[in-house]
Amino acid sequence: MPNVPEIFGRYVFNDAAMKERLPKDTYKALKKTIEEGKSLDINVANVVAHSMKEWAIENGATHFTHWFQPMTGVTAEKHDCFISPTNDGKVIMSFSGKELIKGEPDASSFPSGGIRATFEARGYTAWDPTSYAFIKDGSLCIPTAFCSYTGEILDKKTPLLRSMEVMNKQAIRILRIFGDTTTKRVNTTVGAEQEYFLIDKAAYKKRKDLIYCGRTLFGARPPKGQELEDHYFGSIKPRVSAYMKELDEELWKHGILSKTKHNEVAPAQHELAPIFDTSNIATDHNQLTMEIMKRIAEKHDLVCLLHEKPFAGVNGSGKHNNWAISTNTGKNLLDPSRNPRENTLFLVFLAAVVRAVDEHQDLLRIAVASAGNDHRLGGNEAPPAIISMYLGDDLTEVLASIVNDEDYIRKSRSVMDTNVDAIPNFTKDTSDRNRTSPFAFTGNKFEFRMLGSAENIGCTNTILNTIVADVLMDFADQLEKADDVKSAAEELVKKTITEHKRIIFNGDNYSEEWVAEAKKRGLHNFRTLPDVMPLYCSKKNVELFGRHGVYSEVELRSRSEILLENYSKIINIEALTALDMAKKDIVPAVAAYIRELAETANLIKSVDPELVTVPEVELVKKFTSLLGCFTKKIDNLDKAVMGAKEITDVAENAMYYKESVLGAMQELRAVADEMESNMSSKLWPYPSYGTLLFSV
Ligand code: ADP
Ligand code: MG
Repeated sequence: MPNVPEIFGRYVFNDAAMKERLPKDTYKALKKTIEEGKSLDINVANVVAHSMKEWAIENGATHFTHWFQPMTGVTAEKHDCFISPTNDGKVIMSFSGKELIKGEPDASSFPSGGIRATFEARGYTAWDPTSYAFIKDGSLCIPTAFCSYTGEILDKKTPLLRSMEVMNKQAIRILRIFGDTTTKRVNTTVGAEQEYFLIDKAAYKKRKDLIYCGRTLFGARPPKGQELEDHYFGSIKPRVSAYMKELDEELWKHGILSKTKHNEVAPAQHELAPIFDTSNIATDHNQLTMEIMKRIAEKHDLVCLLHEKPFAGVNGSGKHNNWAISTNTGKNLLDPSRNPRENTLFLVFLAAVVRAVDEHQDLLRIAVASAGNDHRLGGNEAPPAIISMYLGDDLTEVLASIVNDEDYIRKSRSVMDTNVDAIPNFTKDTSDRNRTSPFAFTGNKFEFRMLGSAENIGCTNTILNTIVADVLMDFADQLEKADDVKSAAEELVKKTITEHKRIIFNGDNYSEEWVAEAKKRGLHNFRTLPDVMPLYCSKKNVELFGRHGVYSEVELRSRSEILLENYSKIINIEALTALDMAKKDIVPAVAAYIRELAETANLIKSVDPELVTVPEVELVKKFTSLLGCFTKKIDNLDKAVMGAKEITDVAENAMYYKESVLGAMQELRAVADEMESNMSSKLWPYPSYGTLLFSV
């Protein structure tokens, strides 16, 4: 049993380590930077660098790396040793403030969406003191932002930090209007629940689709899937449990507050949830968590799949982005308190979120768009592609009473009595949960449930913070002019809710009726990434991000280009993998099966030439016909992939991949799956869904 408090943060240069090792004034200066975003002096950086290095070496590190989040979606690192030569042919371990603050990775091989031609390859990484440095694999990792020589950002962290600044600025304005003179900083907070699959490594290695694409491209349904719902919260198998234990320990050592673990709905699917932190740290930690999840799995001869839809026919994986707004004194501005009707400050923040979500449905859909996530949204396992909000009965009634100028009678919390004396009674929550809503108010935070499991949550939170801050700015502009703040704010809440109430939906988001109803309300329903991504650079969005300095127009265009290009690349790799599997493995396997059947048929006929019906002959006919159909589908997919080369416009290209290539892959798969379900499993070239999902 690990001593959790003792191992927690062992690999992190955290506040305790800083306090212990830094001179008092250095510590104070650094704290000011961390807590209030004040810029840092090079002399302070030199002192910090020295202490950091000493600490890192004591803890077994030999190298340091600027750890950053380029547009690839995964983290990047380039390791430098601390060594520096001395005159006597020896070395000392050194690390300067300059090396801490700035790095210069060659930027040419990271996606930039046309910002930076490869001949101007200079890129910079810059230390983010608000996220603690940590040790991983013998290297001191320094969380950094990444930008080009010309100053455009090339990563996912910088815009997030910018959006947090914007949120801070506008939220503070609102607080001041309401008479708060002391709050120094407002941060957005995030708790990201992470879903994943664990499968056996030996089986994984036999599947090119999993190796190259992270998801299966073929696979007939097993006799049992998730229909009995016996996996959700089920007892955890020993091998999985051993994995989860080691994972928790490793996360704790990295200062990650891993809190909850359980089995999810699909077989072989699980979830991990940390305790929330600021958006920035939560994002860094989620990236690190995903990396550690994969690494620890390897040690257990398992593979951790983070793809949004590894298996057709069972649920895919998502990420729930729990989001709130918090002051430096720990007050949660989304906490309704005991009497929300009278809590005008809360209502202002709530109304701001309602309006932001309604006005920027397109951006929120973009915030969760990826090739993998397109397979989930709207598939009755995840929220639909339609953005709406759930507020629960209580808050909905509070808002209705404001809109209708009525009194609100606060419901008292009723007591739950199980009718079993030994079980203590407890008070119930005032409203039930709604698991189907994409954007649900859950007590004192919003839970944005549309995110894909593999994605970096940085982009999503950049968008979320910016759209809410933008509305807060407008609110602050209006309220700063008001003589009577309380009544002006109430009027503002009333007007906002009246204008945006179409976005609130407390019913079943998975139902057909909702799709029709949402259409009537004029809500967007962008099914896939190519449908929505072109809107990223609409005039409205360029102005929005420009107004707050979160993205320049150039940055926004580059981002949308990268996302579109990436989508096409992913589907291209999937199509090539499917073709490779089909031609090199599946066709030969089916041909071998036909030969086996034909030889058996001949044998039977040679024994009894009078025999009229030989079942093997019927099977030969059936499989020859299926194989004929399969090779036609191979040709179609080949042609579809070739066709993509003709289309140069990135948006059109992505649309083509969705409409022509994905469709052709689907048709190819249907025939393969039919053959798999009917033929000898001994000859089928890949482990079955049954093996993949049930063998751990
Ligand atoms: P579930 O949605 O599965 O019921 P929980 O209620 O246990 O999950 O919590 C979900 C997540 O919400 C956790 O990661 C938790 O830390 C996070 N959370 C709680 N309060 C906040 C907050 N104020 N800001 C951001 N995240 C929060
Ligand atoms: Mg949740």
